[in-house]
Amino acid sequence: MHELGIMTGVVQSVTAAAEDAGASQVTDITLRMGRMTEVIEEALQFAFEALAPGTVCEGAALHIVMVEPRSLCLECGCEYDHDRFHMSCPACGSGNVKLLAGREMNIESIEVDIP
Ligand SMILES: [Zn+2]
Repeated sequence: MHELGIMTGVVQSVTAAAEDAGASQVTDITLRMGRMTEVIEEALQFAFEALAPGTVCEGAALHIVMVEPRSLCLECGCEYDHDRFHMSCPACGSGNVKLLAGREMNIESIEVDIP
């Protein structure tokens, strides 16, 4: 369950950013997570519920935007969307491809209340 490790980092980063901004409460957190990271949204939510109490993140709404994988074929230049299990180029069948999106693990935005 690597979601717990990911959320530990997220809660630490968000808490530090909120404290730097002088915020008393974080109201919303939006994450962008690539499908290729294999994280499970429900597990992230669960980890957040476990970690947030006692921090400024307690009670915040966690939004998770899942980013679908997208690759570029280095043989024929085709750019295409795919799932976690089918990465080879749909146009020429090559496996010589570069992942363009789908490995994101970003905090996209946070909203805070500042007293
Ligand atoms: Zn190709």
